[in-house]
Amino acid sequence: MPGDKTEADLTGVERRISPKPPVEKIAGRKLKPSTLMMGHGYDPALSEGSLKPPIFLTSTFVFPSAAAGKRHFEGVTGKRPGGAEGLVYSRFNGPNQEILEDRLAIWEEAEDALAFSSGMSAIATLFLSMVKPGDTIVHSGPLYAATETLIARVLGRFGVQWLDFPAGATREEIDAVMTKAATGRVALIYLESPANPTNVLVDVEAVAASRDAIFGTSPDKPPIAIDNTFLGPLWHQPLRHGADIVVYSLTKYAGGHSDLVAGGVLGTKAQIDTIRAMRNTIGTICDPNTAWMLLRSLETLELRMSRAGENAARVCAYLRDHPKVERVGYLGFPRDDRQADIYARHCTGAGSTFSLYLKGGEAEAFAFLDALRIAKLAVSLGGTETLASHPAGMTHLSVSDERKAALDITDNLVRISIGVEDADDLIADFTQALDAI
Ligand SMILES: *Cc1c(COP(=O)(O)O)cnc(C)c1O
Repeated sequence: MPGDKTEADLTGVERRISPKPPVEKIAGRKLKPSTLMMGHGYDPALSEGSLKPPIFLTSTFVFPSAAAGKRHFEGVTGKRPGGAEGLVYSRFNGPNQEILEDRLAIWEEAEDALAFSSGMSAIATLFLSMVKPGDTIVHSGPLYAATETLIARVLGRFGVQWLDFPAGATREEIDAVMTKAATGRVALIYLESPANPTNVLVDVEAVAASRDAIFGTSPDKPPIAIDNTFLGPLWHQPLRHGADIVVYSLTKYAGGHSDLVAGGVLGTKAQIDTIRAMRNTIGTICDPNTAWMLLRSLETLELRMSRAGENAARVCAYLRDHPKVERVGYLGFPRDDRQADIYARHCTGAGSTFSLYLKGGEAEAFAFLDALRIAKLAVSLGGTETLASHPAGMTHLSVSDERKAALDITDNLVRISIGVEDADDLIADFTQALDAI
């Protein structure tokens, strides 16, 4: 009978739960990222008890009072120290993106993090926040092609210069480039490790030591940023090796299902505040729906990357000994002692993206690619499904022949990103595709 119910029952008030303090430790034990991904930064009590965060589709946020609104803008404009708190407008931030940023930072124990609409918008916002005309960017090479374009062709138009050293450079080689660059103002040291598609690792510790030796305690000491898309956050955590800022294309392993495009930047609070100010100005934040999908992705990040890494180790061990294979460029098979040393000091896993050099040329590579039945023919990497592509004919088609030769981008090269399928099924697929050559 309705009369038996109290008003509280009918409105659900008695079931309402109150906010709980966040749990980061239990009995002195610091919880692991894979545990924290299920709840960190979100309290169901603030969203009607909803276990999962709702997607907050709003362009603006209501102030509790006019004074609170003024207080917020005093924080934004620096009239009041401590910065702005709370949400005000969706070009700046939203609840879904804030939860995502809190969870991204956890993986590398970064002080703070920012989410972006793509890996490239993250990188562009980082650069724009740091450089001015006449500055130099020192970078490792090669970089992701669009990043190279951004530095040389776009920032170059605004009077920004660059100097690079090869990804595998020794301390002496890095010192030489850094010393030359230091005659002017160096805005940023920008690394990518492993380099794409050469898979050469950068010695981040040597870069940090070189930077510190050359710039000392100068207030103009440039920060070190690194694109950690290929190995992070599971197998490579560059903040531990002297980097100040880590950049991600979250489109790849972090998103992990080939169904979204997004980027991330992690670092110290001071660096992130500088980059946030630029993001607030130009609006390169990701949308709430993408942020929500990334929260789902991060819950399985460790599972997915672990499985993909194990699969890649099995597939590469198989391919290495195959008579139709010339060479496998996989981090688990370091090419020399120096690369083995960098790997041992910096990495905890070899990833799942590698270069397969077949015996022959374009005809053999195309026959192999066209015969694949599980692996899909597509650019990109880090998804649940195995992908294969032909850099010389696809991503690097417009690169000059001499640069291609320098980067080992030959016609017999196939790039492969291993997913989370059954390893023996993948080996069966590669076996029949090699047979088809
Ligand atoms: C894909 C990728 C990027 C660019 O990321 P988008 O999300 O496509 O903008 C940058 N760096 C690396 C290493 C990448 O693989």
